[in-house]
Amino acid sequence: MTLELFDTHCHVHEIAVALTPVHDKWHADRVERSAGSVLDAARAAGVTRMIVIGTTLADSELAMQFAQNHDGVWASIGIHPHEAKNYTTPQKSNPGGLSSQASKVGILPEVLERFRQLATAAKVVAVGECGLDYYYGHSPKEDQEAVLRMQIELALQHDLPLSFHVRDAFDDFWPIFESYQGVRGVLHSFTDSQANMERAVAQGLYIGVNGIATFTRDEVQLVTYRTIPQHRLLLETDAPFLTPKPFRGKVCEPKHVMQTAEYLAALRDESVEHLAESTTANALKLLKLT
Ligand SMILES: [Zn+2]
Repeated sequence: MTLELFDTHCHVHEIAVALTPVHDKWHADRVERSAGSVLDAARAAGVTRMIVIGTTLADSELAMQFAQNHDGVWASIGIHPHEAKNYTTPQKSNPGGLSSQASKVGILPEVLERFRQLATAAKVVAVGECGLDYYYGHSPKEDQEAVLRMQIELALQHDLPLSFHVRDAFDDFWPIFESYQGVRGVLHSFTDSQANMERAVAQGLYIGVNGIATFTRDEVQLVTYRTIPQHRLLLETDAPFLTPKPFRGKVCEPKHVMQTAEYLAALRDESVEHLAESTTANALKLLKLT
C-alpha cells in the first residue's frame, strides 16, 4: 500500500518570491530549491496533497495563484495575528456589513472586499491562518480580535473551515470562538494543554500536529499528542519552519510530514499506514475535498 499524506499547513507558495531577501528562509540551509523540486520531493515522500497558507492579503493572493497553478495544492487565505495591525481602522458605524461586534477597531473596507472575492476563487478551501498570538504580541490585542472576527465571519459566510493560530491566548480565544455558531476548523501547530485540546475536540475542531512533536522535551505535551482522538488529528509541517527530527538544521519542506507521521504513529502505538490513512481522510473531510 502506498501512503498518502496531507500537509494541511505550509507556506510553499512563498518560494515563488524566495529570491528576495525577506523570504530567504527558504534558502537558510543553502540548498537550491524551486517550487517544482519541493513539490516533486513531497510527492515522492507520499505527500500527495497540501494546503498553502496566506498570512497577509498579498501573501493570500500568492497562495491562491500557486494553488491554481499546481495539482494537489489548495489555498487558505488569511491574515496572521502578527499582521493584524496593518488591516484595521478606527471603528465607525460599520458600513461593510461584516459586523465586528464588541471591538473598537474595524477592518479596512478594501481589504474586506478583496477577501470576499478571494473566498470564492478556485482552489481556495479555507480561511487563515488567523487567531491570537500574545506570545510575541506583534499587534495590539484589539486589532488581533477584530481581524480574527472578520475571518471567522468570512468563513461562515462561505462555509469554509479556518486554520487557527493561537499562542498563549486561549483565555481570550474561547469566548470569541464560542460567540459564533457552526465554526469549523483546525488548531494549527497545537502545543497547548490537554484541557484546551479536549475543549477544542468537544467543539468539533481538529488538532494540527507538526515537527514540534518530534523534538519537544515536554512529556506532558507528548501525552496530549498521544490522546488526540483519531478522528480529529491532522498532520502539517508549517514549512519552511519547524523541521522535524532527524532533519533539524535543514529548511522544512512538506515532504517532512513523513517524519512527523512516523514519530506520532510510534507514540500512539499505531501503524504509520493507519495514521496516514486516518489523517488524510480527516483533512479531506474538513476541507470538503475528494
Ligand atoms: Zn503557518
